[in-house]
Amino acid sequence: MPGKNMIDEIFGCDVFSRKVMRERLPEDVYKKLIKTIEDGTELKPEIAGIVAEAMKNWAVEHGATHFTHWFQPLTGVTAEKHDSFISGVDDDGQAILKFSGKELIKGEADASSFPSGGLRATFEARGYTAWDCTSPAFLREDAIGVTLCIPTAFCSYTGDALDKKTPLLKSMQAVNDQALRLIRLFGNTTSKRVTAQVGPEQEYFLIDKEKYLKRKDLIYTGRTLFGANPAKGQELDDHYYGPIRERVGAFMDEVNHELWKLGVTATTQHNEAAPAQHELAPIYAECNLAVDHNQIIMETLKKVANRHGLACLLHEKPFAGVNGSGKHNNWSLSTDDGINLMSPGETPHENIQFLLILACMLSAVDKHADLLRMSAANVGNEQRLGGYEAPPAVISVFVGEQLEDVIEQLTSTGEATHSKQGGVFTTGVRNLPDFDKDATDRNRTSPFAFTGNKFEFRMVGSSDSISSANTTLNTIAAEAFRDAADELEKAEDFNLCVHDLIKRLLREHRRIVFNGNGYAKEWEEEAERRGLPNIKSMVDAIPALVTEKSKKLFGEFGVFTERELESRAEVEYDIYSKAINIEAKSMVNIAGKQIIPAVSEYIGAVAGNMNEIRKACPLADVTVQTKLIERCSELLTQMYEAREELIAARKEAKKLTDSKERANAYHSKVVPVMEKLRTPADKLEMIVDKKYWPMPSYGDLMFEV
Ligand code: ADP
Ligand code: MG
Repeated sequence: MPGKNMIDEIFGCDVFSRKVMRERLPEDVYKKLIKTIEDGTELKPEIAGIVAEAMKNWAVEHGATHFTHWFQPLTGVTAEKHDSFISGVDDDGQAILKFSGKELIKGEADASSFPSGGLRATFEARGYTAWDCTSPAFLREDAIGVTLCIPTAFCSYTGDALDKKTPLLKSMQAVNDQALRLIRLFGNTTSKRVTAQVGPEQEYFLIDKEKYLKRKDLIYTGRTLFGANPAKGQELDDHYYGPIRERVGAFMDEVNHELWKLGVTATTQHNEAAPAQHELAPIYAECNLAVDHNQIIMETLKKVANRHGLACLLHEKPFAGVNGSGKHNNWSLSTDDGINLMSPGETPHENIQFLLILACMLSAVDKHADLLRMSAANVGNEQRLGGYEAPPAVISVFVGEQLEDVIEQLTSTGEATHSKQGGVFTTGVRNLPDFDKDATDRNRTSPFAFTGNKFEFRMVGSSDSISSANTTLNTIAAEAFRDAADELEKAEDFNLCVHDLIKRLLREHRRIVFNGNGYAKEWEEEAERRGLPNIKSMVDAIPALVTEKSKKLFGEFGVFTERELESRAEVEYDIYSKAINIEAKSMVNIAGKQIIPAVSEYIGAVAGNMNEIRKACPLADVTVQTKLIERCSELLTQMYEAREELIAARKEAKKLTDSKERANAYHSKVVPVMEKLRTPADKLEMIVDKKYWPMPSYGDLMFEV
């Protein structure tokens, strides 16, 4: 494996990059393809044929035997079907390798086997994948061999989007169009495009694979359904940023190399707050690419972990009692010539364009807090949001001291005259340098924080695609920009109008700004007084997708049709029900086949032991043994009863035919019984002799990597 100093040599070597295209395509074809990519125009079939041929030759030279259209169905993970390049056999019996333009730009996949929320019935199977040339093709090398992966969108025969890429691309167009209108009003005539820039920070847990394989709950659901807290958790804060253990370091090193080869800019890595928890962040990239790269990152983490005898857990809450994992989605808007629209400059109070954009963002987040909340809802995140370690379920925006002060000036006096500066940071140690402080401290508890020149949406779950979050961010921003541009384009006195507009938006939407402690109970109460939604569960978040407001928003920008929104709500309800059903079934099985028999065996052993003691010494004190038997039997009965109750609750919920009702039943009737079954089991784990306990404990999993 190449050493670290070889980043230059390996970076992007498995990507059909612009450099490779330039080298391998005729100049006119290359130029036309770049124009297609940059202007979003349609790719001509005659060009596609030439590109496909060049792509195939490059791939085959690098050892590829197969190609695949790589797409992102509503499952949240990626899907692929491999075809070899063999298209026939010639007269000499030699294989003919071919890859046509048609095969590059269009594929067919059975749409009926992916979640579609009623958009496709089983008999209406046709679905198409279409090349997204804005995300480069890449080679994946693993035990299967080398495969040419072509990022694609996935739609049904009737044109409905069945994936997470199509709406994302549409939302990127929407925000581009509307942001351009705004910056034109401020005199920018040169920028051609505005694109969302996204940097997702990926958290994950890493545990020993052998131990993982002894936990049916981890295998089936990605999280532990039972497990008592170990004597030590994360209270000493000694894992966060702590030295990286060698075994984990070797894993990270290989992950980085794999990612660099695929053109993914893996940069930051560190230990996270919980034991066995880590983080990886790339450098931000254009939204669409960032989404694809995040999928690649998740796949790579899992795959490389396996090679190191480790298991990578991407679940939002694999262990109760310690921090869960999320994915901070850093988001900003930038022009093709490098202007970051979220950059306030040194003196934000004078930067009218920035203040307008900030005001628009506050209005967008305030109006559509429900949609943002939904965009971060997944089954695993249920366990995390609002859990005093992750953002609360109430959406608010942290803007920091400096901007808060500018907003205050504007909304109270109508005029902003100054911007607070950070000042100089002095260490007080003579030989350490002083440096300029940031104008604002950080706030870890905010779900949506302005962090200097970008917004950080911190609610997204670690296992989730970041596509929904960014589709939502782009579209709600587009709407706010459109409304502002509509007003400003008509204004007779632009300066006056823009000042009035900023002040009005800030006054109307100031309630969404909160700089305090988002974990505090008082904040929940305060948020309620402000009328901010506090949507605690996924099943309560889903309806946001299908409100009139949502249909209007996404419809106007062509991001989702009503049908698509309704189908997505269906899919989400269904995913929720199925996931909880699997969790409940797993619990019933683990309790019935593993824990109850183990505890019973232990009780038997204590009883046998007690009899032997009595035999040897009739007067010996066996109170401890008696108490153990009593306590274990009592908890065992509780487990048995809760298990019976869970079986019944699950059956009842499963029977319901309406997807929304079913999901609600799982949420309100099944989940609480799961807790009821877990509680006595975890208590038993603390009592029963470890050698009888049928699976590795939290301590074994988190501290012995
Ligand atoms: P943190 O301190 O929260 O870890 P960093 O500044 O290290 O934040 O950045 C975290 C992520 O945000 C990285 O992926 C980084 O590339 C990304 N990022 C930085 N600037 C921007 C920006 N202007 N737009 C979007 N993402 C950005
Ligand atoms: Mg962060």
